[in-house]
Amino acid sequence: MRTRKPNLDSVEWTLPSFPVSELRRSLLTWYAESGRDLPWRQTRNVYRIWVSEIMLQQTQVKTVIPYYHRWLDRFPTVEALAAASQEQVLKAWQGLGYYARARNLHRAAQEVVALGEFPRDLETVLALPGIGRSTAGGILSAAFDLPVPILDGNVKRVLARIAALPVAPSKAIASLWQLSEELLDRDRPRDFNQAFMDLGATICTPKQPACLLCPWQKSCQAYNLGMQNDIPVSESRAPIPHKSIGVAVIWNDQGQILIDRRRPEGLLGGMWEFPGGKIEPGESIEQCIRREIQEELAIDIEVGDHLVTVDHTYTHFRVTLNVHHCRYLGGEPQPIECDEIRWVELADLEQFPFPKANLEIIAALRQKQQK
Ligand code: SF4
Repeated sequence: MRTRKPNLDSVEWTLPSFPVSELRRSLLTWYAESGRDLPWRQTRNVYRIWVSEIMLQQTQVKTVIPYYHRWLDRFPTVEALAAASQEQVLKAWQGLGYYARARNLHRAAQEVVALGEFPRDLETVLALPGIGRSTAGGILSAAFDLPVPILDGNVKRVLARIAALPVAPSKAIASLWQLSEELLDRDRPRDFNQAFMDLGATICTPKQPACLLCPWQKSCQAYNLGMQNDIPVSESRAPIPHKSIGVAVIWNDQGQILIDRRRPEGLLGGMWEFPGGKIEPGESIEQCIRREIQEELAIDIEVGDHLVTVDHTYTHFRVTLNVHHCRYLGGEPQPIECDEIRWVELADLEQFPFPKANLEIIAALRQKQQK
């Protein structure tokens, strides 16, 4: 997999590569079926789209809709807005809050009238009062179908999740812009950016995202890590979560050990490991190991002596592996939660790729053997 170093100061993380064509296709298909029907989507008039973008900067869609209609009744064209007094403009904005938006929109309308038309190049648009980079992208893509990326709050959240961004989005703005630009469908920028915003607003919501309905689920790293509710990382970083795991080194009568290979997708995909799982509240380590092995491999074991305890920190969480020797009692091992299972000799373990925390288990096994 190709990876690139992003612009992050202190965290070891690489911006993942995505199947870009597939993401574009699946998002646009989803949008055709599930996109929102909003009043400013029914027009290519740049003034109308611009008004909607400014109103939406700090206000929710359902609040904006009646204001949007009233505004256009009051100021149907950019010329009408430019010719109005500031008092008239602020009155029409009354109740929407963040009044600098109205003042800037008014001044910008006067500049656009002086220019003769709304500019189509990003630099000139960014020079207009009240228009930042994401708003400019929203206007240029929606009105003129120009391939200019966006990065509003919804899009930031979706990008942070699909990339499993380990820091607050504000600390990785350059990387998020890079990703937004890379994903943008050059053939259909208008639809793509609108679909992107809709995905964040209706599926990839701040709380309890509807991942099962999401067209990007397969490629979403947060989902694959089970961390969609933990990402984006909040600005004041919460303490990193900790999981306690029960792990089994299962021996058969021939002195072989049972190992399994993780599924290709998700954290540590394709790596081999000793089986086990998360200790549930109220459960002892022994009970957890017995239950996990029955659920994951459908075999009976006897849980024996403690072998080793291993602490390990991943980017998004810490784990403590509580490892016990176990004796295989019966049942045909089934790869229920993994890709493959093997009985192997201790001497053969080094032929398999294991994650770092599991290597410490192997080291402990070797040490025990030498005693
Ligand atoms: S899978 Fe879930 S977290 Fe990932 S982009 Fe979709 S809704 Fe968001």
